[in-house]
Amino acid sequence: MKKIVVAIDGPAGAGKSTIAKMVAEKIGYAYIDTGAMYRSVAWKFLQTGKEFDEDYISMLANTMVIMFKPEASVNRVFVDDHEVTEAIRSAEVTALVSKVAAIGAVREAMVDQQRRMGESGGVLMDGRDIGTVVFPNAQLKVFLTATVDERAMRRYKELIAKGQQVDLEQLKKDIASRDKQDSERAISPLRQAEDAVYLDTSDMSINQVADYIEGLVKEREQ
Ligand code: C5P
Repeated sequence: MKKIVVAIDGPAGAGKSTIAKMVAEKIGYAYIDTGAMYRSVAWKFLQTGKEFDEDYISMLANTMVIMFKPEASVNRVFVDDHEVTEAIRSAEVTALVSKVAAIGAVREAMVDQQRRMGESGGVLMDGRDIGTVVFPNAQLKVFLTATVDERAMRRYKELIAKGQQVDLEQLKKDIASRDKQDSERAISPLRQAEDAVYLDTSDMSINQVADYIEGLVKEREQ
């Protein structure tokens, strides 16, 4: 049985990382969260306190070292040996990341690393352009989505469970704004690859989605 490349794309909050991580653990594949890489660049830049500057951000993206250390419950992320697992989920990073991810040189640097990490197969990679740009020949592509209301509600429940105060309407606005920026950018916009399996998870449980994708992987591994 061959170990394949699985590309999972879709808009913010569709559950890509939760699902990809679950499936990867079950079938013994590596999970690569490419959103965490763009978030790491945005985080690194925020540390400098500088005004938005494409050339400077591109330089950072080309020189910083991003590392993943997968653990049972969490996929730990390090930038230049500094742990950023929590920090890259902050509201400041989330608000800036789509602008950083629209810079061509930043994308080139990240895509290079992603291709290297996935070249021998046995990976599930999630993001916005994995099936269209990073691995256009991936043996399995899934486009995972859900309505904005459903995605905002899931995020709301997640944050409430963590004890944070959140405004549902604001979450909807943030998600819709990130969808717009990610789908309308000039380079590698979010879109479904023609040969991707489209999955609207609005009315599905996490387990249902994970089982379904696992089944697709098993089929394509033959
Ligand atoms: O997946 P996540 O929501 O953490 O991604 C954060 C942001 O990183 C996205 O809103 C998008 O702007 C960018 N991204 C991207 N291409 C990817 C993964 C993420 O542009 N492959």
